[in-house]
Parts: sequence; structure tokens; C-alpha cells
Amino acid sequence: MTRIDLHTHSVVSDGTETPEELVATAAAAGITTLALTDHDTTGGWARAAAALSAGMQLVRGAEFSCVSPDGRGGTVSVHLLGYLFDPEHPAIVDEQARLREERSQRLVKMVAKLAEDGYPVDPGTVFADLPEGTTPGRPHLGQALIRAGIVASVDEAFAKLLHNDSKYYVEKADTPVETAVRMVREAGGVPVFAHALARKRGRVIETSVLADLAEEGLGGVEVDHPDHSPEDRATLRGLAGELGLVTTGSSDYHGTNKTTPIGAETTAPDALEALLAQASGVEPLTG
Ligand code: AMP
Ligand code: ZN
Ligand code: FE
Ligand code: FE
Repeated sequence: MTRIDLHTHSVVSDGTETPEELVATAAAAGITTLALTDHDTTGGWARAAAALSAGMQLVRGAEFSCVSPDGRGGTVSVHLLGYLFDPEHPAIVDEQARLREERSQRLVKMVAKLAEDGYPVDPGTVFADLPEGTTPGRPHLGQALIRAGIVASVDEAFAKLLHNDSKYYVEKADTPVETAVRMVREAGGVPVFAHALARKRGRVIETSVLADLAEEGLGGVEVDHPDHSPEDRATLRGLAGELGLVTTGSSDYHGTNKTTPIGAETTAPDALEALLAQASGVEPLTG
């Protein structure tokens, strides 16, 4: 039996398990192919690789923070998954470093806004325990709000204070998605549009944007994602068929920063094959 989960996070970004623990969690859940896709970093790749159990396959990847045309004349923040790209490709190294710094500065601004309104958070409590090199994200601020007794969960922190339309939300300067698609391809990787229709997070793209990105080299679309409705999954599956894009399914596991278990959504073996066939940056690894 194969069980393929192509979108997960570790403590190297905003998950709650170390790369080693994440691989163990995946093995215990019967995952046979796991992709590690931390936000804007490849920092967990070596640790996940070293922890692979016999027979388990690791697809090394990352989730790129991007800004996309929304298809209505505006823009919207989106995520692009990149698989099996060369982690030393200079454009990717530089852009990921820039984004990690951008994320830190943006979180400090969000903390300042919350503090101004009397919430007991300061940059020290948010960043104090983060290991060097961690990609900071709003879930880390959510954890600080839990420690301060303001909310009981990261979900509650997002619902009340950290969501995209909150007065405390601060934008970050993300990579234009068409640039990211080309960058991942140039590095031998395969770009897959993540949770394109996750409406509960805020505004989403018109699906015409996916057709435009397919011309730029987009390789796939994440169809089965916990934040996608059945109708939106059907729409994306149909469009992917028309555009010749691979369709994936993944949990977007974040440990205890979200309630979704690993393997909650999975990718079909032939879809994985199609992705691997397009990749030339680094190899999938087998334990
Ligand atoms: P950021 O990367 O700082 O913009 O924060 C967004 C990240 O928080 C995404 O990776 C989400 O997957 C994660 N996240 C965790 N819980 C939630 C939630 N309840 N709503 C939205 N995003 C969430
Ligand atoms: Zn995340
Ligand atoms: Fe995402
Ligand atoms: Fe994610």
C-alpha cells in the first residue's frame, strides 16, 4: 500500500515537530512518500533525510510565499509548492533568505500593533525560543498568545487576531508567483500551486490565473487540501485536466499548530510519478 503526503511542515518553519519527529510521525501513520515543505527554507532537508526509515521515500521541497494576480485586477497572497529543486540555486537561496528576514520584520510589526492595544506580547516572547534559521510565521505569534493566556489554540488566535483581515495583520513583500514558478523550474524543480481555493483564509484567485501560470511552467495544482470544499476540488480537478497539470492531495500538516492529522489527504501514485518525471534538481531519497 502506498500513502503519499506531499505537503508538511516542521519546526524549521511553523510546524511543531522536528524534521526527525515529523518523519517518525509519517512512518507511524503509514506514509510511504513524504514531502517536507517548510515555508521559504530548505533548512530541514538534511535532518529529515537522516531520519528516514527503511523503504520510506522523501521528496524534498519548500512552500514559497508569493503574491499573485487575483484575476480581477488586484493581487492576493498565495503559496507555491516547489519540489526537488536544487537548494543551492542562487536565486532561490537569495529569495528565501530575503523572505525569512521579511517575515521576521513583519511579525515584529504585528507584535507592536498587538502590544499597542494592550496584548502582553513582545518580540522577545515570540522569537526567544525559535532555533537559529527558523522561518518565523503567524503560528509562532499564536503560540506566544497562548503562553500569554489570551487564546487557547492557534486556530483561535487566527480566528480572533491573526487572520488576513485583522487590524493586526501586516503584509509581507512576497515573491511574484510567476517569478517563483520560473525560479523553481530553473532550479530543476516542479512548481505546484498550493491550496488555490482555500477560501476560509481570505480572498482567493480566479481559476483563470492557473491557466496563465501553466504557460509559465506551473506543473501541478494541489486539489485535495483540508481547506478545499468538494465543489472547489471538482473545479480544480477539471481545470487541471484541461491544462495538463498534475493534481496532488496533501494534509498541510503543522503538528499541533493545526488540527489536521498527517495523511489526512493523499496523492495518487501516478500523480507522484508524473511529478518525479518532471524533476531534475535533486533526487527523491529512499531510506
Ligand atoms: P504566515 O506564514 O505568517 O502568513 O502564516 C500563515 C501560516 O499559518 C500558514 O502556513 C497556515 O498554514 C498557518 N496556519 C495555522 N493555523 C491557521 C489558521 N487557523 N488559519 C490560517 N492559517 C493558519
Ligand atoms: Zn505554515
Ligand atoms: Fe500554505
Ligand atoms: Fe503549508
